[in-house]
Amino acid sequence: MAVSFAEARCLILDNCVSLETEDRPLLDALGQALSQDVVASRDLPLWDNSAMDGYAVRAKDCVSGATLAVTGCILAGGQPEPAIAPDSAARIMTGAPVPPGADAVVPFELAELKGERLSIPGKVCKGDHIRARGEDVGAGQAALASGSVLGPVELGVLAALGQSLVSVHRQARVAILSTGDELVAPGQPLAASQVSDSNSFALGAAVKAVGAVPQLLGIASDDRESLMGSLLKAAGADVLITSAGVSAGERDLVREVLCELGWQELFWKIQLKPGYPTAFGLLNGRPVFSLPGNPVSALMVFEQFVRPALLKMMGHRNILRPLLKAVLKESVRKKPGRLNLLRIRLCQEGQQLVAYSAGDQKSGILSTSLQANAVAMLPMERHEFAAGEEVEVQLLGAFLPEPNDQI
Ligand code: AMP
Ligand code: MG
Repeated sequence: MAVSFAEARCLILDNCVSLETEDRPLLDALGQALSQDVVASRDLPLWDNSAMDGYAVRAKDCVSGATLAVTGCILAGGQPEPAIAPDSAARIMTGAPVPPGADAVVPFELAELKGERLSIPGKVCKGDHIRARGEDVGAGQAALASGSVLGPVELGVLAALGQSLVSVHRQARVAILSTGDELVAPGQPLAASQVSDSNSFALGAAVKAVGAVPQLLGIASDDRESLMGSLLKAAGADVLITSAGVSAGERDLVREVLCELGWQELFWKIQLKPGYPTAFGLLNGRPVFSLPGNPVSALMVFEQFVRPALLKMMGHRNILRPLLKAVLKESVRKKPGRLNLLRIRLCQEGQQLVAYSAGDQKSGILSTSLQANAVAMLPMERHEFAAGEEVEVQLLGAFLPEPNDQI
C-alpha cells in the first residue's frame, strides 16, 4: 500500500538518527551544523577600545573654549598606557585600548591642533567612538545555537571568541548506486538502446550540496549477482541510495536483492508524482533509499526526503525548504490520488509571487528543471486548479528574482 507524502516523511525522519560529533578546524566545518550551543567564554571585545583614529579624552574636559595637552600615542596592539590626566588627551588608533580615565574618543577630523594644544569645537559625550567591553557578545551569553549552519559569519564569531575548533556532527557518507542494463558511464560510447548514467552525478552533486560525502558505486546491471555485488560495496556507508529497478518491471530486482540482504522495508510507493515507485528501509540499521530511475523523479524524491534525512543526521536545525504561497499563472489539471510536484518558475509581479510552469513536466525531461526555481505542491485529492488560484510552493534555493522576472 502506497503511503502518503506526510507518512513517508515521518517514517524516514523517525528512522534517521544523528551521527556522532567531532571537533573540526573552523574552515573544515563550513556548511556543517553546530552540535551544541556556543556560550561565550569571554567578553567580545575583551576591553574598551577605540572605534576611530583620534584622541582619547575625558568628556567633561571638552567644554567650549577649553584646550587640552596632548600626551602620548596609543597604537593597536600597543602596551597599556598611563591614565589620562585632567585637561589632557592622547592620540589613539582604531582598535587600541582606551586608557584609564578616558571616556570618549574624538576623531582626528573633529579636533584642531593649535601648536601644542588641542581644541575640540563640537560637543563630546561619554562613550563617543568607544567600543565597550562585551558590547558585541558578553561572557556567558549564548552566542550560537546548536544546529546552526556554520557560514562565514558563524565561523568569524567563533574565531573572534578565540575558538580554533568547533564541534559538529560528522558528514554522512552516502553510497550511490545506479542500476539498469541500459546504463553506460558518461564519456563511454553509447550502443543502440543505451543511455548515459546521469543519476549518479545528479544525486552525487545533491549529496555534496547538503554537505555530505558521496561515494559513487557505479552501475549495476539488472541481475541478482551484479546488484548483490554492488550493494555489498556500500557496507561502510551511513546511507545508501539506489536509483531505478524499483517499479513493477520484469527486471526490477532492487527490492528483492535488498530483501535477500536482510533489509527491513518500511514502505514501497508514495502517493506522489513524480516519485511514486520509491522504497525506503533499513539495512543493518542504516537508511536505504531506493529511488525511481527517471532522472526527474530521482532528484525530486532526493529533494523531498533524502535531503531532510541527511540534514537531520548531520544535526541541522532547519531541514525543510521554506514554503510560500504563490498565484498560478496558468490552469493545471492532474489526476487525484497523488500529490503532484510541479516544476515552476516563481516570479515577483508587483506585490505578488506568481508561478509559471517551468516547461514539460514529464519525469524523463530533466532540462525543465533548469528553468525551475521552485515546485508547486498540488494536493493529492484535487484535480483542477484555475489560473489565479493560490497554491503552496517550495523554494529550491534562495529566491532571487531576475530583472526580467519583474514585470
Ligand atoms: P526504471 O526505474 O528502471 O524503470 O527506469 C526508469 C527510466 O529511468 C528508464 O527510462 C531508465 O533508462 C531511466 N534511468 C534509470 N536509471 C538511470 C540513470 N542512472 N541515469 C539516467 N536515466 C536512468
Ligand atoms: Mg530499469
